[in-house]
Amino acid sequence: MVELKTNTSIDAMHAAGQVLARALTAVRQAADVGVSLLELDEVARGVLREAGADSPFLGYRPSFAPTPFPAVICASVNDAIVHGIPTAYRLRDGDLVSIDCGARLDGWASDSAISFTVGRPRPADVRLIETAERALAAGIEAAVVGNRIGDIAHAIGTVCRGAGYGIPDGFGGHGIGRQMHEDPSVPNEGRPHRGMRLRHGMVLAIEPMLIAGGTDGYHAAPDGWTLKTNDGSRAAHAEHTVAITEDGPRVLTDRG
Ligand code: MG
Ligand code: MG
Repeated sequence: MVELKTNTSIDAMHAAGQVLARALTAVRQAADVGVSLLELDEVARGVLREAGADSPFLGYRPSFAPTPFPAVICASVNDAIVHGIPTAYRLRDGDLVSIDCGARLDGWASDSAISFTVGRPRPADVRLIETAERALAAGIEAAVVGNRIGDIAHAIGTVCRGAGYGIPDGFGGHGIGRQMHEDPSVPNEGRPHRGMRLRHGMVLAIEPMLIAGGTDGYHAAPDGWTLKTNDGSRAAHAEHTVAITEDGPRVLTDRG
């Protein structure tokens, strides 16, 4: 069931989203060659704590997971697509990092992700990240009243496939509100004009995931959480929490 949010609730979700935006900006600023993923998790924890927010990631345990998630960020490096557990791994020159984070404030959740490189970037990674951001922007642009879920999916998929990248099947965006994951699901590929009609008050996490090698296959790493590409190529992830309003899409996790 899809819960429509009031304008007051959307404002409250925006406040949560702005804490999250600050956390991601701080993580990105801290990330550099030699910095560990655990240190980045600590940076995000500090921003949430300072704001009086808590983490919808910490302790989260969906049905596929062998253990509760132990951190407030997912840190997915190089061939890891999403759900990477922060470890003592220290970032190396040219690594491609995706950071996914959530913040819950006054009971309202937000969810957002960024991808970036550290040290000297590979041109192929720059193109991959730019395409992820372009796919996210296209998905957001399609998130308007009167469109359907399939229009968002189609917009994202067209950008990803058009650039020759793969799309991990079965993972994508979702409704969000008091719970981090609510109905409906928002696939990263689909047919236009199909699926649920978009209405004022729907809030969606839109999140393209791209596989550089152009194949769609992935598998779970031995930790049971981290999803890695089957072809060993690198992956990128970009995500915003977006409210659908009569005035157009409102990006609640905008980093300014
Ligand atoms: Mg996320
Ligand atoms: Mg999400």
